[in-house]
Amino acid sequence: MISIAQHPDLVGLPPKEVESHLREHFEARGQPGYRVEQVLHWIYGGLATSFEEMTNLPRSEREALAEEFELTVLEASRISRSADGTAKHLWRLRDGELIESVLIPAGKRLTLCISSQAGCAMACTFCATGWMGYDRQLTAGEIVAQYRQSRRFADEGGYGKITNIVFMGMGEPLMNPKAVFPTLEILNQGYAVAARRITISTVGVVPGIERLAELPEQYHLAVSLHAPDSELRASLIPLERKYPLPRLLEALRRFDAAGGKRITFEYVMIDGVNDSLALADSLAELVAEFKAFVNLIPFNPIPATEWQPTPPDRLSAFARRLERRGIAAFVRTPRGRDIAAACGQLKAEATEGRRLVQLGASGESS
Ligand code: SAH
Repeated sequence: MISIAQHPDLVGLPPKEVESHLREHFEARGQPGYRVEQVLHWIYGGLATSFEEMTNLPRSEREALAEEFELTVLEASRISRSADGTAKHLWRLRDGELIESVLIPAGKRLTLCISSQAGCAMACTFCATGWMGYDRQLTAGEIVAQYRQSRRFADEGGYGKITNIVFMGMGEPLMNPKAVFPTLEILNQGYAVAARRITISTVGVVPGIERLAELPEQYHLAVSLHAPDSELRASLIPLERKYPLPRLLEALRRFDAAGGKRITFEYVMIDGVNDSLALADSLAELVAEFKAFVNLIPFNPIPATEWQPTPPDRLSAFARRLERRGIAAFVRTPRGRDIAAACGQLKAEATEGRRLVQLGASGESS
């Protein structure tokens, strides 16, 4: 906390705090009040990545800001473009850690998929990030910077406006509440991204879901379910042992009761593992009480396993079975598979070979 107090990161603080820091700063320097608005405009409207860019401020004021404050900027280490238009950024953080974010164009939508941790401690057996292990939490500034810099990239590259943000990159967002909750506030209040256009995807971190339920904003919640029974689920998602399905469902009921926020259930379809019609029946039963819909994601192959995606005919049979039982089901088209940008394939490939150790489900909310 002390280093933050000395050099507040204006990218990673909630807008109200940024404003009060700036007010205090300019007052102490005997500067007019409108300087605060100028800087706020540069940050949230101009997506400035340096104080130097803030050209309607006198040079001396830009220098003073740079001495007192920080603006987190990520280094774009590599950009990969898929044949289907998906673009993946490999970002290098200040300490050398590598993370990824993905821009996914689809019709009028442009979705940005962001990372919340360097690596992941959840160790889900079907996920490449899970096999990498956990390195560290990202700061709010490092999460918000992915959005700011992706927006600049999208503007310059003619991708258009980012319409949706999903926390489906590397990491388990609800295991990093210290940064993720402020990030939500910053995106919503600072950059005016509507809450319902922001999706938090989780393997089922109960305290985090309960905290989301308490927020007045209607953020969208996606739950990575992947199996309707505890035993099978635990073999895919180790966290199931800590927060078993009955507890998870209890938290989801609270989330549902708190407002009209619609829950999405994610279900990765792995050939011969979790894709039988009998499981479709139990899945339908499990989610029936929610105003939910189910996203079926064909498994994206990863180096760590021999598993294959469920073939298309069986995938649609599974979807039809859910529909017949009154559950809205969508089959998701994998995007960016050719550049390893699809769901579960993110593992910051520059680190490949460095370490392929599967860690236990530790490293929780520090
Ligand atoms: N930790 C969060 C967010 C990251 S993963 C979560 O698990 O929800 C985003 C989505 O991709 C999740 O639904 C996850 O289960 C899914 N996923 C992971 N590995 C995958 C793979 N190999 N193929 C398809 N989907 C995968």
